Amino acid sequence: MPAHLTILASGSSGNCAYLETDDTRLLIDAGLSARQIRQRLLGIGRTPENLSGILITHEHTDHTQGLGVLAGKLQIPVYCNRLTKEAIETQFQAKLSFRLFNTGSTFDLGDVSVDTFSVPHDAYDPVGFLFRTQAGNIGFLTDLGHATKLVIERVRASHALVLEANHDVKMLNDDTRRPWATKQRIFSRHGHLSNDAAAHVAEQVISADLKHLFLGHLSSDCNSPELARRVVAEALHKIGATHTHIEAASPNTACATLTLDVTAQKTAAPLNATKEIGMPMESPSHSSMNQMRLV
Ligand SMILES: [Zn+2]
Ligand SMILES: [Zn+2]
Repeated sequence: MPAHLTILASGSSGNCAYLETDDTRLLIDAGLSARQIRQRLLGIGRTPENLSGILITHEHTDHTQGLGVLAGKLQIPVYCNRLTKEAIETQFQAKLSFRLFNTGSTFDLGDVSVDTFSVPHDAYDPVGFLFRTQAGNIGFLTDLGHATKLVIERVRASHALVLEANHDVKMLNDDTRRPWATKQRIFSRHGHLSNDAAAHVAEQVISADLKHLFLGHLSSDCNSPELARRVVAEALHKIGATHTHIEAASPNTACATLTLDVTAQKTAAPLNATKEIGMPMESPSHSSMNQMRLV
């Protein structure tokens, strides 16, 4: 059965994605307000009440903003490591139901197997994820200053990958609004990946199976979706990889839902199997949207 991935938001101002399989409905990060998360889920015909869990990469507010209200009120299990839990507990009054994992471990949530791995970023214990589903593997690799051998290895099995392309180096250098210390933080080995660094990661993880690449965590004023896309696409084209659909995600609107089904591709459409992108899930009628109460 297929898996459905919707990037509800991605950018320096907020990160949240929704993954659905037969058994399991997950949020990856909750970096919008609870109200926004609910609205964007409603946009694809889903509600937070049905979530199996929320996975948190790290405690920065662009990944946790809506967590206290959303998970506290609905008592949705929150999956993170211990240091991230301790940092989150200082952010919210709400009592959350945590389920702790050790960084580097793999655990199952229904029919989804979750690989966790450490990423170099200035948070307590930041992680990336590889979700293994029967329909294919989905990697999450954002908020890292540089790509270690370990992270490259961990996401190499991805059929779809969310990869950070935070900034254009020149635009960030030339930015007059950010103090030098902030720029240093972003440029550092525990900061964020530039477009060029993202392109280099893409070159290293590319495989015949990687058909969908979402560029995420774009800075709104030191990058543009067109620029990020072009830099990564040119790097991949140079090495002859033209089979990967590349899309820049936005903090302001959800991306079209990606429906992944590698088993169907293998039997039905082995040569041109990227058509399934952009298929929206059934959307709720306006009246049902209006009946939903916003948190
Ligand atoms: Zn961060
Ligand atoms: Zn972030």
